Order: sequence, then C-alpha cells, then structure tokens
Amino acid sequence: MAISTGTYPCHRTFASDKNGYYKGDSANLPSLTNVADILAKVEDGGRITYDEAMLLYQEADLLQLGRAANARRQQLVPGNTVTYLIDRNINYTNVCSTDCTFCAFYRYDPNDPEAYVNPKSVIGKKIEETLYLGGTRILMQGGHNDQLPWDYYLDLINWIHTTYPDIEINAFSPSEIDQMVKVSGLTRYEVLKALKEAGLQGLPGGGGEILDDEIRKRVSPKKQRTDGWLDVMHHAHSLGLTTTATMVIGFREEIRHRLNHLQRLRDLQDASLRDYGTGFNAFISWTVQIENTPLERSRFADQYGATPHEYLRHTAIARIFLDNIPHHQASWPTQGEKVAAIALHMGCDDFGSTMIEENVVSAAGARTSVQPSMSVPEIHRQIREAGFIPAQRNTSYEIVRQYTADPAEDEALLPPAELPGEPTGNLTNSIRLSVINNN
Ligand code: SF4
Repeated sequence: MAISTGTYPCHRTFASDKNGYYKGDSANLPSLTNVADILAKVEDGGRITYDEAMLLYQEADLLQLGRAANARRQQLVPGNTVTYLIDRNINYTNVCSTDCTFCAFYRYDPNDPEAYVNPKSVIGKKIEETLYLGGTRILMQGGHNDQLPWDYYLDLINWIHTTYPDIEINAFSPSEIDQMVKVSGLTRYEVLKALKEAGLQGLPGGGGEILDDEIRKRVSPKKQRTDGWLDVMHHAHSLGLTTTATMVIGFREEIRHRLNHLQRLRDLQDASLRDYGTGFNAFISWTVQIENTPLERSRFADQYGATPHEYLRHTAIARIFLDNIPHHQASWPTQGEKVAAIALHMGCDDFGSTMIEENVVSAAGARTSVQPSMSVPEIHRQIREAGFIPAQRNTSYEIVRQYTADPAEDEALLPPAELPGEPTGNLTNSIRLSVINNN
C-alpha cells in the first residue's frame, strides 16, 4: 500500500501541551483575555487565536456570538443573499469494512441481503431525476467496499461524466480516496489526478467528524486519521478540485478537541491558499445522529449528541475562527429547518441543499428518513422568513438564479408531476429547462 504521508508544512502536527491543545499559527501570539475585546477584534476583521476562541466558547453568550459571526460573514460574503444547491446524494455501495461506531448505513457482509452496489442503470436514473428537478450536482459517496477494484471507480466517474456532462460530480470523501489507494497501489495524488481526468470535479468533506485522533481512535478506530484526511484535501486543492470541510460534534469530545479541529482546518486553508490560490469553499457542521448505531447501545448513549443551543454556539464560533473559509452552511437535515434558519443569524450564508436522497445520516435518525428532501419553495420560505433573499448556486458558489423577497415567484417553480421513467442517457440541462419552462 502506497499511502503518501503528510509532507506539507500545513500537515505538521503541532506540538500539543499535556492537555492536548494544538495552538497552530497562534501558538506564540498574545491573546486577549476579555470577551468584549475579542468580539470587537472580530468586528474589526481581526483573526482570533486559539485561546481567544476558547474564551469565547466558555464565556460569550449566544447573541454576542451571533453578532460577531454575522460581522465575519459580512466581511467574507457581504449582502443579504442566502444560497442553496439543488443536488442529490447518491450512495454507490453500502458495503463497508470500517465499522464506525456512529454509522447505521453500512453492511459489513457483502452477502447481507441489504448489502448493495448500485448498477449504472440505478445511478443513471437518479441523475436523470436530479436534472429533471433542476439539480446541478450529484454528491456520491459509499462505504469502503473491499470487493470494488480501482477500475470500478474510474469507470463509474468516466461513465457519469460522458453520459451526463451537465451534472457536476462531487464524489468520494478522503477516506474513500484512501480505500482506492489501498486497492490500486497508487498514491493519493495519483488517485485524485486520475479521477479528475475521468471527470471528477470535487470532493465532499465527509469523514472529517472530529479532526483529533483522540476522538477518532475511540469512535472510528479503523478509519483514516486526521493527518490522512488533511493530506487528501491538500492534494485535492493542488489539483483545483472543489472541496468542503465538515465537522460533526457530539462525540463526548471536549472544547479543545473542537478547537483542534478548527485549528487544523484553518492552517490547511492558509497553506492551500498560499500554495495553490484555492482551498475549501465551505464549512458545514452538524451534530452526531446515533439512532440505530452502536453508540446508541453504549452505556454512554445519553451523553452523545449536542443540543440545538450547542450547535448554534459552535456554528457561530466556527464562522468567527475560520476567517479564511468563505461560505458556511446551516444543516437542516440534522437540526430541522427552524434551527437551521436561526443558524443563518449565526454567520451562515448557505442553507445547504435539497438533498433529494441521503442515506447516511438519515439511517442514523436525521429527519431525511421521514422526509427525503426539502423542496425549493420550502427552502425559499425558510430563507425569506429568516429575513434573507434566496438564490440557487452551483458547487462553486456561483449564483445560478437569484430570487427576490417576493414568494409569488415560487409558483413557477413546482416541477411537473411525472418524473422520468427508465434512464435514457440523453437528458441534458437544456432539455430539463425546457421541461420546467413549459410547466
Ligand atoms: S461512516 Fe463511512 S467509513 Fe464509517 S462505517 Fe459508515 S460507511 Fe463505513
């Protein structure tokens, strides 16, 4: 196996003190010791140190954090628009050998009656439905299926790209890239380069969970470690692939683990922007969902998860601390639309996606299990009621369609009642747009 090691400056593991604090770029900077001064510094556009973020976590109230997070949002994404994406999550396989304790999605045994590898016909039909509903992207992820050879991934991306050139393909979180490294014998960079040449446009940030190995060793001991996740993303940045950074809280971690995660992201982003002029375009956090997972059956079950209040505080602090990641997304699938709407006042400028299909967090109890997607008019309603103006975007956060404050314009958005039948392989965005415009 030829897994490349983290040799970039951003991947150095910062010396931690005996309590496990990684201070990164702010290790030697003096920190303010007064919450009001730190918040004023944020409103002036200043970067905060690790210790200052710790003080905010411990002492600032939610409204103070929201004000500072919104100031940071305005510094990076000025205006009153909140964006969203129409996309579909597609899972190509649910077979996985990694046994994460928070996962209810996977089947370990490939012969399990519920185990699957979706054929191209199924994936093609899902893509055509996505195009038909105005979607611009698929986000494709799966388990670590040891039976799938390297050629499977290349062929799948190449087939999707040539059959449906109008759909953006974001696929394979960093730990899946390491699965491909394992079965191919290639390096991470070589795997990513080949996937890009086949048509891959970006990587989802899945599998980040908490980027601190104290937590990773406990909740997902067989999964890629922090340095590996960051290394894959750094290579992805070097190739110009779009990427997002994710974070899941509620694993019984301490504040220092959360801040270590944010610090490692900020350091990588600094390095990627410096080296390649590009990096993560968005940050998304949510709370762990433990329904139907081993964590739900553990003796600490009632200690896992996080309250909406905690989620909102974390959302605001992440926006304040990550001053080099432009877009921050609210998570309606795990928090519900009301909390997600409040997150728009905690510095988020994006409402996420319609998630036409999502099987991983929904298998663990997120609300997508009962309502597989949020319609575009409903997303618009949530954004407008929160006081913002909706706009559809693509993966690169370019505006596809700007709306206004007037809900009447949504009446033209309802899709036709009939979804396409068997995949034809020739549905394009222009055909889809003509379908929608005729209705
Ligand atoms: S979270 Fe991903 S890697 Fe972990 S068990 Fe589930 S499918 Fe496998």
